[in-house]
Amino acid sequence: MKIVKTFTAVRSEVAGASAALVPTMGFLHEGHVSLLELAGGLGGPVVMSLFVNPLQFDRPVDLERYPRDLDRDAGIAAAAGVDLLFAPTVEEMYPSPPRTRVRVDSVSEGMEGEHRPGHFEGVATVVAKLFAGIQPEAAVFGRKDAQQLAVVRRLTADLSFPVEIIGAPTVRAPDGLAVSSRNVFIAEDDRAAALGLSSGLFAAAEAVAAGERNGARLESLVRDRLGDVRVEYVSLADAFEAEPVETLEREAFLAVAARVGDVRLIDNIVVWPDGSSDTGVRLERPSILRRM
Ligand code: AMP
Repeated sequence: MKIVKTFTAVRSEVAGASAALVPTMGFLHEGHVSLLELAGGLGGPVVMSLFVNPLQFDRPVDLERYPRDLDRDAGIAAAAGVDLLFAPTVEEMYPSPPRTRVRVDSVSEGMEGEHRPGHFEGVATVVAKLFAGIQPEAAVFGRKDAQQLAVVRRLTADLSFPVEIIGAPTVRAPDGLAVSSRNVFIAEDDRAAALGLSSGLFAAAEAVAAGERNGARLESLVRDRLGDVRVEYVSLADAFEAEPVETLEREAFLAVAARVGDVRLIDNIVVWPDGSSDTGVRLERPSILRRM
């Protein structure tokens, strides 16, 4: 695996090859690894970008305390089959303060967009730069961030990027908690409260399988399982428009965001009107990240 720091170097490495890109902010865990493995299965070289994007942090303190460890990440990426690790500096990504931003209307406005102002503009801008600068044939994103996936799909279509967008299932710890770089900040005592998110979503998946199609009733099934957490939203949303859905009539995701202690967690399941759902995949062992 090669490590490069400039767009020019990435392009010269993957020119003409059908590269699959996996954008990350590093501090890799099994969720990232599953995306990298999926990308490896596509046949072309796998490029992983590692960039903690200042533009997408709505709270400076979150940017400051975001965990970083390039050596550790490089080891995990190499073992997961990454061919090229692109780790640009902030100066490489934003040589001058960006005057061009990508804003995806409507899709980025509810849920995460409402609670994290400016977040999706930062995400959409950096993803557009990665697509333009690397020119991958495919890019893999986690369904864990379902609204982000919808935003990326939309910007790809609207800006005519010839990139195939692939969504990958959410990877969960054996107890159901969605794996996240933020989980290292969850206090031992708060673990049970954190599990309320996934157990509420699993209950809703069972209800969908049993015939429930009403958005409000599915949302209250999730709320009922949330204990000592500060709920930001529980919402059934259209998978592509990310708009609230009253009745499940096409692919949708049921999403929840809550603060557990001072850690903000998000989770979701994907549901279909035929009663099926994607609740993600569970690890058999505790995560490589401590306390997950
Ligand atoms: P991040 O490094 O947090 O920006 O995440 C990079 C990519 O990994 C995004 O596409 C996320 O949706 C995805 N991801 C994060 N956590 C998980 C997870 N538990 N399962 C699957 N994908 C994930």
